Amino acid sequence: KLEKPVAANDKDQTFRGVRVSHPERVVFPEAGYTKGDVAGYYAKAADRMLDYAGDRPISLLRCPDGTDGDCFFQKHAGQGFPDGIGSVDITESSGKSEPYMVIEKPEGFVAAAQMGSIEFHIWGSRTDLLEKPDRLVFDLDPDEGLGFSEVKTAAKELRKMLCEIGLDSLPMVTGGKGVHVIVPLRRVAEWETVAFFARTVASHLAERHPDRYVATMSKAKRKGKIFIDWLRNERGATAVAPYSLRAREGAPVAIPVTWPQLAKLTSANSFNMPKALKRLDQECPLQAMAASQSISREVVESLETLIHCQ
Ligand code: ATP
Ligand code: MN
Ligand code: MN
Repeated sequence: KLEKPVAANDKDQTFRGVRVSHPERVVFPEAGYTKGDVAGYYAKAADRMLDYAGDRPISLLRCPDGTDGDCFFQKHAGQGFPDGIGSVDITESSGKSEPYMVIEKPEGFVAAAQMGSIEFHIWGSRTDLLEKPDRLVFDLDPDEGLGFSEVKTAAKELRKMLCEIGLDSLPMVTGGKGVHVIVPLRRVAEWETVAFFARTVASHLAERHPDRYVATMSKAKRKGKIFIDWLRNERGATAVAPYSLRAREGAPVAIPVTWPQLAKLTSANSFNMPKALKRLDQECPLQAMAASQSISREVVESLETLIHCQ
């Protein structure tokens, strides 16, 4: 018996060759954005996103019932995954090998949106050299009650410290409450070295300014302070990808900015979809970053000297 062919709904919409079902479904109730708007955004941002979120393990935050419903993280690839989303087998710390999702083509971002994804979260390394990260991230998390100006001060202080030991960095407003200070790296050091370095930097700042910063996860110690979350640099950890939408009120976007631009911002969630799309007309500030720096012997020695002398 012949099965009835599944007719494509004529209400479906196609973005970059990917058919998106129920484009009219509202995903962001307050902002009024639909699944079609989300897919349309990612269709436009896809080329830019591929530069920073492509070819590396990526997790999706999927919200099948919209951002007001239950959302869940997915990191493993499943069967019958769409074209544009591939996978890489990774041995986890348990010793087990699992297939992790990797977006290899711009269409992959739209395909993920078709599956109800809102956010993209990335590893700090690329699939061709998984054990050597090409970026370091300090995730600045303000405790409730702290304002964005405190976050900006923290980012500036962190930048200064990194600069003193020879590392250039760039801020990204997350679309949430904080800033990620990103340090692009040449792929020389392995995870262990990079995470230890990040932890040492975070701990030093927290020791110098114990009234303002903490470098440990303990919630109790975070009261009124900014948590310098260096744990994003452990193998297997993720951070939100540049240009990812956030499943938060107002449909904000994570946007890399220059240091002077950061100084003028008044919140971490001031880039909405139209503003984010405008940023695509200019080169991404990450593009101009030094690609030659690494956690080298010299950098580690400079850090040791700095800690010793302060
Ligand atoms: P904000 O600026 O509001 O803190 P954020 O993206 O930095 O936004 P965090 O809660 O600080 O949010 O989380 C930092 C990163 O850790 C996230 O971007 C995400 O990649 C990762 N993360 C957080 N929670 C989870 C989770 N439950 N599963 C997987 N990854 C997570
Ligand atoms: Mn954060
Ligand atoms: Mn965090």
